[in-house]
Amino acid sequence: MSKRDYYEVLGVEKNASKDEIKKAYRKLAKKYHPDSNKEEGAADKFKEAKEAYEVLGDENKRAQYDQFGHAGAQSQGFGGFGGAQDFGGGFGDIFDMFFGGGGRRRDPNAPQQGADLQYTMVLDFEEAIFGKETDITLPKEETCDTCSGSGAKPGTKTKTCSHCNGSGQLNTEQNTPFGKVVNRRVCHHCNGTGKIIPEKCNTCGGSGKVKKRRTIHITIPAGIDEGQQIRVTGKGEPGVNGGPPGDLFVVVQINPHEFYQREGDHIFCELPLTFAQAALGDELEVPTVHGKVKLKIPAGTQTGKTFRMKGKGAPNVRGYGYGDQHIKVKVMTPTNLSDRQKELLREFNEIGGNEATDEQDSSLFERFKKAFKSE
Ligand SMILES: [Zn+2]
Ligand SMILES: [Zn+2]
Repeated sequence: MSKRDYYEVLGVEKNASKDEIKKAYRKLAKKYHPDSNKEEGAADKFKEAKEAYEVLGDENKRAQYDQFGHAGAQSQGFGGFGGAQDFGGGFGDIFDMFFGGGGRRRDPNAPQQGADLQYTMVLDFEEAIFGKETDITLPKEETCDTCSGSGAKPGTKTKTCSHCNGSGQLNTEQNTPFGKVVNRRVCHHCNGTGKIIPEKCNTCGGSGKVKKRRTIHITIPAGIDEGQQIRVTGKGEPGVNGGPPGDLFVVVQINPHEFYQREGDHIFCELPLTFAQAALGDELEVPTVHGKVKLKIPAGTQTGKTFRMKGKGAPNVRGYGYGDQHIKVKVMTPTNLSDRQKELLREFNEIGGNEATDEQDSSLFERFKKAFKSE
């Protein structure tokens, strides 16, 4: 069957403008679109019009066609949006992008690295400070020993899937108003593996993997902090087709401590002092994560005063020494006083308790009192 002239197909003159060609095509496309026109031959007419428009609607192709006719157009391999020949190759990827196909073509037989695993480890405050050695048990997929991961019963072989020829993907062509579109999807005969297993391994049921519990030894470095993670190379999921395994990431979560707070390598805590201790001074044994340490409280210590205990914080996780412990004083106002205590405090006040603060605080206190004095 000889091809009709493209101008004839669209019903336009040889010197028709771009717009006229476009309009003519639209009219025909609407008239013969297979979705709306079920008449015999409509689909062919639609195809014919589309093909004509693909050439005449493109300046370069139209020039080629004008000079060489159909032969000219074909010799150039006008794939474009309508040329079905090329779709298995480069164009397929473009279409996948636009039409949500399977994305990049991937060889299902190529080695692939196994997935990484993440495990959250909860530590006590002190465990994070000092680190520890521990074993964790993880549910983990491993390569099936019975079939060495092939999924086939020992002594039998897997076959290349005949539906997709081992590519794991199937292409289907579809006519749309934009031209022929290739949809690529996972081959359902082999689930995208490209292989058919005639006799499945009894141990793994053909998956090539088995779920096991596996114990992994973890070294928690001293000074690890909330949210930091330890990478255990090669302890993730097994690879596919002989690819390397993934890694295991142990993410650290630290339980809060009753007294201590941590900021980086420094540890903070509050030190409650009685009124008398703060006023008269004292020497105390203060707890630190490294054990009790003597701390001298000078007489006249105020609430909010912070003492820095050098090197009594957390070790730096990279080995750069230790942080400090910062101790913030909180003077406790006595409650539930006995009569005798009240009497002593009143006496203390009468002999000028408020004037006993140091000069700077005293003048501030005096100014504060004056501000509220009624004239
Ligand atoms: Zn297949
Ligand atoms: Zn198996």
